[in-house]
Amino acid sequence: MYSLDNIYKSFDNNQVLKGVSLEIPKNKTTVLIGPSGSGKTTLLRCINLLEIPDSGTVTLNGSSMSFQEGQKVKYSGSEIRNIRMKTGMVFQNFQLFPHKTVLENIMEGPITVLKKDRSECEKEALSLLEKVGLSDKRDAYPGQLSGGQQQRIAIARALAMKPELLLFDEPTSALDPELEVEVLNIIRRLVDEKQTIVIITHKMSFAREVADKVVFFDEGKILKEGTYTELEQSNIPRITQFLNMLN
Ligand code: ADP
Repeated sequence: MYSLDNIYKSFDNNQVLKGVSLEIPKNKTTVLIGPSGSGKTTLLRCINLLEIPDSGTVTLNGSSMSFQEGQKVKYSGSEIRNIRMKTGMVFQNFQLFPHKTVLENIMEGPITVLKKDRSECEKEALSLLEKVGLSDKRDAYPGQLSGGQQQRIAIARALAMKPELLLFDEPTSALDPELEVEVLNIIRRLVDEKQTIVIITHKMSFAREVADKVVFFDEGKILKEGTYTELEQSNIPRITQFLNMLN
């Protein structure tokens, strides 16, 4: 079970998360939606401690970490990295290593972080490349690939760490519509495989299709969570307006 409890986070005087509690069901897809600037990315980054909450508790499969405002973080870098290793994150702008080949990008984490055997990593990386349909690009550099292809490699790289939880931050927002499809198809496959997924998206048709649970975020708080239909029927003007605007 993955959960966040009463998470607060500020940047300088800007309080971005105002007491957020969220359960992330295992083997299901949770979709975060809501206006820009409402704190969705910050929340996603708190799940894997890329941002350290000012206060609140993050629980990932039995390991809980609590943070308290005004107190020094009591966890070591390696404890925090351990939590981070349980998650795989896919960013808006891919964030591949530009000077490494596709294959090296995918193998980097398992070799350097998980200390796995090189030939085993290569075998796994090749099978992930097949899964994302890019076996022929193994020796290419990210700059030689389309945005859609780069994002598929970024997904393969995240999967190479065998994460318990996959986090996607608007994975297609930097892509043209025709390239978006190929990335969405891979995410659809991961949803079908019952990975545990949290995804931020502005694509409401996709949210409706894949979400087991939709969480509507507004001004640093969860305004409502439920199925897509429950949100549609919520009669909360802020939500229905948002859903209609983006459909
Ligand atoms: P969303 O994903 O819903 O668009 P974000 O979490 O990206 O929202 O941003 C919420 C607010 O937090 C914005 O006002 C943004 O400027 C601020 N913010 C996010 N990250 C940082 C940061 N590292 N430093 C300062 N402000 C930040």
